[in-house]
Amino acid sequence: MEKIGKRFTGKVAIVTASTQGIGFGIAQRLGLEGASVVISSRKQKNVDEAVENLKSKGIEAYGVVCHVSNPQQRKNLIQETIQKYGKIDVLVSNAAVNPSVDSILETKESVLDKLWEINVKASILIVQEAAPYLVRNEGSSIVFVSSIAGYQPDANMAMYGVTKTALLGLSKALAQTMAPKTRVNCVAPGFVPTHFASFITENKDVRNMIVGRTLLNRLGTVEDMAAATAFLASDDASYITGETIVVSGGVLGSRL
Ligand code: NAP
Repeated sequence: MEKIGKRFTGKVAIVTASTQGIGFGIAQRLGLEGASVVISSRKQKNVDEAVENLKSKGIEAYGVVCHVSNPQQRKNLIQETIQKYGKIDVLVSNAAVNPSVDSILETKESVLDKLWEINVKASILIVQEAAPYLVRNEGSSIVFVSSIAGYQPDANMAMYGVTKTALLGLSKALAQTMAPKTRVNCVAPGFVPTHFASFITENKDVRNMIVGRTLLNRLGTVEDMAAATAFLASDDASYITGETIVVSGGVLGSRL
């Protein structure tokens, strides 16, 4: 923690799906670096607990319930941020689901709809809400949270991987739309033992197999993902837009 600077002093950051796991880690990192952070997720109780947790660490934090596929709640998230802090400098779009492990040929249409709705469409729609405020601020920034599965979709979560591939393209396309005031980048995490990945990382044999695929011989941490996200959102990355950083400990196949 002593190494953490103050790159976000005076900045306002929104992180979706940020009451635990990678999103919470990102919010905490931005907050420790001086940002006022707006955290959100589907459940009021989780939002309240996360806000208290951040405040107990001296972070300026505010919470808004936002299921990312709910249009009114997306609007509330942006409007309450503006009412509370008056601006938006950073938007981190982190929410995703992986509702099925069916093969592509067996994935139900309702599952395809949900994957598209949460992982891709909601990411675009939250940007549409926030964009008018982001472009007012030179040096503002968007970061999407993709996955190494976006580069190499695994057979067991193939369509989830394909939605994460879409975010790589979305980052490139949106970077053109939002330049020069707002930069748009993406992080692609490897395996991190969160609730989301528990069905993989809590099985000892699978966990060992995954660790064996990394060059750095360990799973990732939320702090690893938060550090890369904070870099991309900060002025240290002021000449980087439309890019994705893979944060996977060197998992082979997680890059072109
Ligand atoms: P996590 O620890 O399970 O946390 C998920 C968070 O999202 C919770 O705060 C949850 O709170 C919230 N959430 C769930 N559905 C939501 C929705 N529809 N709208 C708003 N908030 C929602 O998950 P994670 O591992 O940190 O995953 C975060 C991101 O990292 C995802 O985009 C995932 O694809 C990506 N990723 C994760 C890994 C990994 O190994 N963990 C690897 C690659 C990429 P509520 O229950 O209160 O809504």
